[in-house]
Amino acid sequence: MSHQSDLIGQDILAYLAQHERKELLRFLTCGNVDDGKSTLIGRLLHDSKMIYEDHMEAITRDSKKVGTTGEDIDLALLVDGLQAEREQGITIDVAYRYFSTAKRKFIIADTPGHEQYTRNMATGASTCDLAIILIDARYGVQTQTKRHSFIASLLGIKHIVVAVNKMDLKDFDQGVFEQICNDYREFAKGLELLDGNSVQFVPMSALKGDNVVNRSERSPWYTGQTLMEILENVEIAADRNLTDLRFPVQLVTRPNLNFRGFAGTIASGVVQKGDELVVLPSGKTSRVKSIVTYDGELESAGPGQAVTLTLEDEIDISRGDMLAHVDNRPLVGDHFEANLVWMAEQPMQPGRKYDIKRASSYSPGSFTRIAHRIDVNTLEHQNAAQLGLNEIGRVELSLERPIAYDDYRTNRASGAFIVIDRMTNGTVGAGMIVAKGLMGQNTTGSQHGRLAHVTASERAARFGQEPVTVLFTGLSGSGKSTIAYAVERKLFDQGRACYVVDGKVLRQDLSKGVGQDAAGRSENLQKGARIARQLNDAGVIALGAFMAPTEEGRATARHILGQRCLLIHLDTPLDVCQARDPSGLYAANVEGTVPGVSYPYDAPTDADLVLNTAEQDLDTCVDKVVGLLRERKLI
Ligand code: ADP
Repeated sequence: MSHQSDLIGQDILAYLAQHERKELLRFLTCGNVDDGKSTLIGRLLHDSKMIYEDHMEAITRDSKKVGTTGEDIDLALLVDGLQAEREQGITIDVAYRYFSTAKRKFIIADTPGHEQYTRNMATGASTCDLAIILIDARYGVQTQTKRHSFIASLLGIKHIVVAVNKMDLKDFDQGVFEQICNDYREFAKGLELLDGNSVQFVPMSALKGDNVVNRSERSPWYTGQTLMEILENVEIAADRNLTDLRFPVQLVTRPNLNFRGFAGTIASGVVQKGDELVVLPSGKTSRVKSIVTYDGELESAGPGQAVTLTLEDEIDISRGDMLAHVDNRPLVGDHFEANLVWMAEQPMQPGRKYDIKRASSYSPGSFTRIAHRIDVNTLEHQNAAQLGLNEIGRVELSLERPIAYDDYRTNRASGAFIVIDRMTNGTVGAGMIVAKGLMGQNTTGSQHGRLAHVTASERAARFGQEPVTVLFTGLSGSGKSTIAYAVERKLFDQGRACYVVDGKVLRQDLSKGVGQDAAGRSENLQKGARIARQLNDAGVIALGAFMAPTEEGRATARHILGQRCLLIHLDTPLDVCQARDPSGLYAANVEGTVPGVSYPYDAPTDADLVLNTAEQDLDTCVDKVVGLLRERKLI
């Protein structure tokens, strides 16, 4: 439905074209039933002439029968259809209503119910530009006002309109309105999250129609805008992030051999033909060859546009990867802090495994700590062992695979994630990443004053080396462990601090019971990479001996290790490895567990060094590895 425009009768095509170009404002109404939320929505629709005549007649009739508004038409009945369904217990988390005026198109996210309020707000509000917070003029700023404001600001809604409703019941007393404004400002001061947001106040009566769409004569002292004027004029174009290109790849399309495209919706920023892009988390780069849409090619595209990008080079990109400009990258990591809204009956338990979905990427992960729970009524921070339904907390999160992300406040699209229960597949939480509190990213800081942590450079000076992980990959029997231990001996004898992280040894310890198939090997490798990272943090050179048969597993390990990883491929032929069979793997030949035999070993194409132990003896191999460390100025 749309507003009534003379153009509709005169020139329908011109009307549609004009309509198409109008800016869209998404907003949310926050308030409980008694605050007049339904009446306000009804009033907006009614006064902007959005209601069909027959519908209006029915409501006029019903108002007399069941309305609660005496002689006035009960506009809340307009939103009744959905209410009835809700009463029957049909779950509607958020209802979206659409209307338009001559200036703008609007989508209202109407979130029902008191009990589920936090969850519903989190669902409905995450794409909203503006939130209307309803206050009953008779009661002023209430606990729920604070809760709604806190959640709105937590979700990054930049514009807040405090609608002081039912002013007719307070005779449009200016003093009452101003007292409420002052109380609200006082409360908002303590809410650092509201910093930088615009907050406007409007005295109104949704029931009588004062200052909603039409200016009221009963509040001559109010010179500000009506609610509709604010909705029509609030500046939202500037809220769009045009600077930081974030393109989550939703789909890799390959309709024919000559075309390989990456489809998705631009979350933020602008992409132009010829731009140099980086693929994250892999870090590979290429240039944009074309920007393809359903209607043809574009020179550039911006936020919200669904496009397919093709690149100059054939590089590996898969669903869930993020494309960004090379000189403006998101963060990449597997451990971060977030504000989390919990939405399930079953509480969030630290340590339990969930699926974490950010844009189009998935990773299993778990919450390692609840820093505090926030009481949404008092905004107090409390200790908590778990988060219950509708509770909000600051948590630390650890993923199995690194992802590209941003701080939620700078980028709502790449800073938000949802939490999925692995058993039920249901969404159980919504999170907003807080990048400034970044944890576990090899901090070398001295945040404890005089008791400053030992820094990475102090350790490097003590040991006379730059810590690195040398990762040996290859088939079983290719010589990984033999060379790793021989390199360890040589380095140790030269006075270096080093240690072998051997996949086979790990299987007796942290990886007990982990499978021998490709997935199990990836898991073992990831654990090894994390241990190696700790060793590197301690200043020690780690020598990792892992089969690491898949490209994906190796990429994950490299990301866990950051820049500090050298990959050495032991390219010993399969028949030689089989003849050696030091672990008895080939002889046992258990289905699905023997790489190179029952599933492929993907040879790396990006190794820093390739050795073939069928042709090079042990001393030569060791010298080459030590030579590589020297060449890279690590020792
Ligand atoms: P992996 O750890 O890759 O499964 P191992 O190191 O356990 O393999 O076994 C490799 C076997 O190959 C050992 O028995 C080792 O003595 C033999 N070998 C022969 N030549 C070499 C070489 N140049 N480098 C490493 N190992 C070699």
